[in-house]
Amino acid sequence: RQSLRIGLIPADGIGREVIPAAKRALEALGSDIPRLEFHELLAGFELFTRTGTALPDETVQILKTGCDAALFGAVSSPSRKVAGYSSPIVALRKELDLYANIRPVVSVGRNVGGKPVDLVVVRENTECLYVKQETIVRTESGREARATRLITERASRRIGKMAFDIALGRPRKQVTIIHKSNVLSITDGLFRETIRAVPDLPEVAGRYAGVALAEQIVDSAVYRLFREPEIYDVMVAPNLYGDILSDAAAALVGSLGLVPSINAGDEFVMGEPVHGSAPDIEGKGIANPLASMRSAALMLRHLGYENGASRIDKAVNEVIEEGSVLTPDLGGRSSTSEVVDAVLRRI
Ligand code: NAD
Ligand code: MN
Repeated sequence: RQSLRIGLIPADGIGREVIPAAKRALEALGSDIPRLEFHELLAGFELFTRTGTALPDETVQILKTGCDAALFGAVSSPSRKVAGYSSPIVALRKELDLYANIRPVVSVGRNVGGKPVDLVVVRENTECLYVKQETIVRTESGREARATRLITERASRRIGKMAFDIALGRPRKQVTIIHKSNVLSITDGLFRETIRAVPDLPEVAGRYAGVALAEQIVDSAVYRLFREPEIYDVMVAPNLYGDILSDAAAALVGSLGLVPSINAGDEFVMGEPVHGSAPDIEGKGIANPLASMRSAALMLRHLGYENGASRIDKAVNEVIEEGSVLTPDLGGRSSTSEVVDAVLRRI
């Protein structure tokens, strides 16, 4: 690559405060990565309330045709239904076929329970209950609501391969399939079976022979995650379990303001801090920028720029360990920009 074209989509709330931090971290890497080209793009609920659209066509088109990767801030989604509004992040995942949501959860310094955590949640991002096919009917005994849960072999296989590929790049090389096939033997049964069969697929040609495969029922997986997080390396899960599991895992390492993610497909990758738009602290200048900066690092790693990625990660970890320049969510008294400066100095 001659240049790296990155779409920046701050969207709502503190997304606008933390995406500039990620941009500056990338800029600080100099010749470790190709020349950077940024495209500032619009999306979000606030945009919707002003213009009636949450995700302009132009944003999607520029991402599809003019960008190699993107960074997304956060979006505010009202919990009641607002006519005409649907979440731009959900739509982007679909438009760009970002079928995997990948969240490494790593403890640095202090952590809950005193046990070190170093795991990755690999969440299927396109189906399960999130196909949003819900119906409601009136019956004699009251209303009755139903939802469709879709699990396909194709989506289970590609998320399985993604999980095995990630495990290959980690020291412990272990994949744990998270499911509930003791109850949902058909849907979760298919997910489990398909992933179990991934190492034997002809096209992977024995590549995953060194990866250990385990499995765990989802409820006991959450229980064990809190009691003995060290047993997990790469956890692969259908959409809903993965959503819950990855937020739960984030709680283990302290603040939501620390946990990064990427949405990845075969053609595109989009970094995204796990947290939301945080309306309670918006505009106060105290949003923790570290999850966003780590998301930029993950994006780079996924694109193959390991040097750049690890320079950002190392600088972030040093700032956390050193402990004197932290935002209030981590018990500190520093502002967003003071934390950004501390990281940039170390990069
Ligand atoms: P949230 O993640 O926005 O905030 C939860 C709590 O964590 C708040 O107290 C907040 O101040 C704190 N927090 C989050 N990120 C922080 C950071 N970087 N630094 C310091 N503190 C931080 O979740 P919420 O309050 O449940 O939701 C607020 C809005 O965000 C809602 O509209 C929700 O729909 C949306 N949301 C969006 C995403 C996303 O964009 N992917 C994810 C979750 C929630
Ligand atoms: Mn979530």
